[in-house]
Amino acid sequence: MTDPVVTRFAPSPTGFLHIGGARTALFNWLYARGRGGTFLLRIEDTDRARSTPEATQAILDGLTWLGLDWDGEPVSQAARAPRHAEVAREMLARGHAYKCFSTQEDIQAFRDAARAEGRSTLFLSPWRDTPESQHPDAPHAIRLKAPRAGMTVIRDEVQGDVTIRNDQLDDMILLRSDGTPTYMLAVVVDDHDMGVTHVIRGDDHLNNAARQAQIFQAMGWAEPVWAHIPLIHGPDGKKLSKRHGAVGVTEYAAMGYPPAAMRNYLARLGWSHGDDELFTDAQARDWFDLAGIGKSPARLDFKKLDHVSAFHIGQMSDSDLLSEIERFLDATQQPGLSQVQKDRLHHAMYCLKDRARSLPQILEKAHFVLANRPLDRDEKARAALTDVSRGILAELTPQLQNASWSRETLEAEVAQVAARHDLKLGKLAPALRAALAGRAISPSVFDMMLVIGREETIARLTEAADA
Ligand code: GLU
Repeated sequence: MTDPVVTRFAPSPTGFLHIGGARTALFNWLYARGRGGTFLLRIEDTDRARSTPEATQAILDGLTWLGLDWDGEPVSQAARAPRHAEVAREMLARGHAYKCFSTQEDIQAFRDAARAEGRSTLFLSPWRDTPESQHPDAPHAIRLKAPRAGMTVIRDEVQGDVTIRNDQLDDMILLRSDGTPTYMLAVVVDDHDMGVTHVIRGDDHLNNAARQAQIFQAMGWAEPVWAHIPLIHGPDGKKLSKRHGAVGVTEYAAMGYPPAAMRNYLARLGWSHGDDELFTDAQARDWFDLAGIGKSPARLDFKKLDHVSAFHIGQMSDSDLLSEIERFLDATQQPGLSQVQKDRLHHAMYCLKDRARSLPQILEKAHFVLANRPLDRDEKARAALTDVSRGILAELTPQLQNASWSRETLEAEVAQVAARHDLKLGKLAPALRAALAGRAISPSVFDMMLVIGREETIARLTEAADA
């Protein structure tokens, strides 16, 4: 039996959840959840200036919105500093690290001399092999006694074998002279203590992996499986930046993409399963594996996102869509819905969700159920209500008094009135839309009639005819 999978997402709090971070979190979540494993969250909050409680909360909120639940409490990296220092001292005791008394000035002098002599400027500490008896009583850093010869190989599940010559890596500092651990040490100790089996993260950390592997090896700890994923690029193929528009998860929430659609879309950003573009969470969990991650950067594609979103909106139950809409209104600080409005929306959802690519598009189409008479009509709707069309509406109204309220009958009644005026049904639609919705964007006129019923239909037509 193989060991249970443990993955983690380890964001540094920056005040928002970046879309790239969200994708990394999703990959880790899918990998763990698809294998009955554990998905942990570690907040890399050692930069005390940036790591405010609000910045951390923004990450948690982003993950929660996206529906990525983590196991247990989030781990604070900063809170574990004593443990990191303890491991540095353990490495010292085992002879895998040493005390380095070189000052900044010493290091600078070493580099200047190396440069002048045309040697590598990689710092070689004179303290590496100095016996304890010759140590001064002075502040010192603890450095890793890294191998000087040979290679460090990262067997990466995405990038393949990545080989770094050990003579190109210096003896990295593990514990600074002020007693604070370095980032490189903290990550390794935390991953080990948290039992992380798979490190899936952006390939901007690939260089760190070689150094981190050296720490794992020095401690005699098993290295995790490494998987460094190419970063996301903008639609123009350039590295993603603010210039490309939405880079934070909350911006996608504000645009009204449902989280289920975002999960599907983000899963496909850099990972593939044959030609499958549209899938459920359960399928993604079943299918997700490291072998399906591509080697070249994925590009953001808003058209594709719309397409994925329309699929998920179409798939969602009317009640779930209603909950998403309420969440969207709340997240965008818009007024909430009354119980009556909720009931009406739910009732109309079947025709509202048709072809909608985002939640605001549903709301736009929903004006006809959310608004009350007298309807406020937008400019287009007012323009559609000409003298002629109002006359036709007045003619249609009595015909609807006794018609049976089915799509077929309604279509027949409207077609008949249109024919009387030598008009195609489509020519009448703008006036009917204007009467029933007060907007140019709405579901089909027959769906609207069916949803609001006879009494309200007749009242709206009469209102428009009299306008
Ligand atoms: N804190 C790092 C970041 O936000 C991630 C470190 C890691 O995954 O090992 O980029």
